[in-house]
Amino acid sequence: MPDDHGYFGDYGGAMVPPALEKAIADVDRAYREIRNDPDFRKELLDLYKHYVGRPSPVFYAKRLSDHLGGAKIYLKREDLNHTGAHKINHAIGEALLAKYMGKAKVVAETGAGQHGVAMATACALVGIDCEIHMGQIDIEKEAPNVTRMKILGCKVVAVTRGTKTLKDAVDSAFEAYLSDPDSQLYAIGSVVGPHPFPMMVRDFQQIIGEEARDQFQEMTGRLPDYLMACVGGGSNAIGLFTAFLQDESVNIIGIEPAGKGLDTPDHAATLTLGKPGAVHGFKCYVLQDDAGEPLPVHSIASGLDYPGVGPQHSYLKDIGRIEYQSATDQECLDAFMTLSRKEGIIPALESAHAVAGAIKLAPQLSKNQSILINLSGRGDKDIDFVVRQLNL
Ligand SMILES: *Cc1c(COP(=O)(O)O)cnc(C)c1O
Repeated sequence: MPDDHGYFGDYGGAMVPPALEKAIADVDRAYREIRNDPDFRKELLDLYKHYVGRPSPVFYAKRLSDHLGGAKIYLKREDLNHTGAHKINHAIGEALLAKYMGKAKVVAETGAGQHGVAMATACALVGIDCEIHMGQIDIEKEAPNVTRMKILGCKVVAVTRGTKTLKDAVDSAFEAYLSDPDSQLYAIGSVVGPHPFPMMVRDFQQIIGEEARDQFQEMTGRLPDYLMACVGGGSNAIGLFTAFLQDESVNIIGIEPAGKGLDTPDHAATLTLGKPGAVHGFKCYVLQDDAGEPLPVHSIASGLDYPGVGPQHSYLKDIGRIEYQSATDQECLDAFMTLSRKEGIIPALESAHAVAGAIKLAPQLSKNQSILINLSGRGDKDIDFVVRQLNL
C-alpha cells in the first residue's frame, strides 16, 4: 500500500489545486525513480549510520517496569538521534530528494519546531536553502528550536493568523510553495498531505521498526507483545509499526493527545473522536465541524496538535489492525516526570503520551509480557515549559 493513486482503502489521495498537480506528480515520479535506486539507498543508509547515529538502541527500562509491577517495558531510543527525534530520518530523505530533483529550496511547516530543525539540519548537510513556517504560539513555546533553525541558516516565517499553531503553519507553507513550485520542494513533516508524502515519509521512517524488530528479538528471543507510539500525524508510529504489521501476535496501539479531556473541545484525538473527511489535500479521519471544516485542536505537545491524521492510520483503524487510545495533558506530564526520575531519560512531551499509554497498560499485564515504546524524541525543548506547568 498505497495503490497507484495514493489510497490506503478509502483514505489518502492527492486533492491539490490544479496549479500544483504537475508539481506533485513530479515529486511522485522522482521518488519512484530513486526509491529503490542502489546509489540513493546507499547514500541514505550511510547518512543514517554516520550522521544520524543509527541504529538507535533498544533499552530495557527495568526501574520503570518494576515500579509499574507488570509488563516489561522497552524503549526504542529515537531521542538519541542527531537533533533529538525521529524526524531527521525523513528530513534527510526529503532533502536528498530535493537535491536529486534540482530544487533550490525546501519549504516546510513545523509544530514543535522538531521538523523545522530536522529540515534545517538536513538542508545544511545536503547544501540547499530552507524556509520554515511556524505558528507564533509555537515560536514562543519552542524558542530554542527557533534559535537552532536560525543558526543552521534557515529562514523562519512566523504565522500569526488563525490558531497561530501547526494547522495554520501548514496553510502558510502550502501557499509559499504554490507561489513557485518549480524551484522548491514542499517537505511535509509527517505521514500526512497529498500522495506521495504519506508513503514517502513512511518509507523513510520504517527503519525504526526494521531495527527494533531485530534488536528486540536479539535481546529477548521473541517479539514484543505490545507496541506503543504517540500519534500526531503518525510518522514515528508508522515508522515503528510497519515492520510488525504482519506479526499477528503483536498488539499495536497508537496514543493520541486527549488534551484537557475527551469530553472538552481541547484535545486532538483525531482517530478516537473524528470522522472521515478531508484536510490539506487528502482523505483521513478529521476533527471537523458540521460543515466539514477542521476544528481548532489542543495538546500540551505542539507536535501532536493536528486535526487530521495519516491516511494509513485511518485505514489501519478501520480494519482493526491498530487500536487507538489517548492520554491527557496531565497523564503526559506525569509520564514525563516518571520516566525522567525512574530512568534518567527526559522524553519529549509528544513521546511522553506513549509512555503514559504504557503506564496505564503495564500493570494490567504479566511480568512475562512486554511493551515496546517508540521514544520518538528527547525533552530538552520542553523543560522550561514543564517547570512552569509544575511549579518545580
Ligand atoms: C513531531 C513529533 C511527533 C509527532 O509526529 P508524528 O508524525 O505523529 O510522529 C512525535 N514525537 C516527536 C518527538 C516529534 O517531534
